[in-house]
Amino acid sequence: ARAPGTSPGTAPEGERAVTVRVPAKVNVQLAVGGVRPDGFHDLANVFLAVGLYDHVTAAPAGPGAGCAVTCEGPGSDRVPLDRGNLAVRAAELLAAHHGRAPDVRLHIAKDIPVAGGMAGGSADAAGALLACDALWGTATPRHVLLELCARLGSDVPFSLVGGAALGRGRGELLTEVPVSGTFHWVFALADGGLSTPEVYRACDRRRGAAPVPEPEPDPALLAALREGDPRALAARLANDLQPAALALRPSLADTLAAGRAAGALAGLVSGSGPTCAFLAADADAAAALAASLEASGTCRAARATTAPASGAVLR
Ligand code: ATP
Repeated sequence: ARAPGTSPGTAPEGERAVTVRVPAKVNVQLAVGGVRPDGFHDLANVFLAVGLYDHVTAAPAGPGAGCAVTCEGPGSDRVPLDRGNLAVRAAELLAAHHGRAPDVRLHIAKDIPVAGGMAGGSADAAGALLACDALWGTATPRHVLLELCARLGSDVPFSLVGGAALGRGRGELLTEVPVSGTFHWVFALADGGLSTPEVYRACDRRRGAAPVPEPEPDPALLAALREGDPRALAARLANDLQPAALALRPSLADTLAAGRAAGALAGLVSGSGPTCAFLAADADAAAALAASLEASGTCRAARATTAPASGAVLR
């Protein structure tokens, strides 16, 4: 994808800023295997992109400026503004791949909860790759963008493609998962975040030396997605990280109970948490559920939205 008015080889810099919209994800199944020799876990990870979005803008910067980033929105004070920011690393990786300078001003408008278990940093990395590719006119083939995404992090390739997908390996080996219709979700946003590596460590500690089965995708869950059946999907939602997230943040049990009491078909911790995700029967049920959750005082805010959402797109 290219910015309007740019084509490869025509030095598009200085033209116009490019904005990319990128979705959050929820893991409808997160099956976590044992620890691998490289420290990662083998996963069977069914990703669903949902309609909460960050916007990443890439604006031209002068020669030698390097990559700078600014950030606005809830929790943005907890987003690093140096090379710790995944969007900066994405811009630098794309520039290095093309043997060019990473001169760009990135701006992230955050709506995806920071350290919320919804892959916000990964979304920003995918957004920055696509935005810089358009700004710089580098016309990187899709399969190369996906390889660069996988080098940036396990969840980054999915942020680029969106929809629904099964991630194997450490989550980065994607195959598309067919979905029918629209699923209605409510996300209960928490104060503060949870560190993903800490949640994985807590999961390993809780398992101790017990043998861990190979993570496998659940055929009934994949069928529920394919058939667009929210009740069948609700019955199969599964997250192996949930017990660890609840142990680290016991108040999430109250949030899950409040959602279930308010009529959710099912609720689970999103990824490594602390966001809790609830499936609703339809749009009206989702709106009512969001209102009840907000009134329950067990979350900072509740947001109703739909899935599947598209992956990273130029605006
Ligand atoms: P995941 O679900 O992929 O494990 P998460 O949604 O729990 O991740 P993120 O919002 O991606 O968490 O942030 C995790 C940490 O990454 C943050 O605490 C922050 O220090 C760092 N980080 C780096 N870049 C970003 C970014 N662009 N946005 C948010 N956090 C970022």
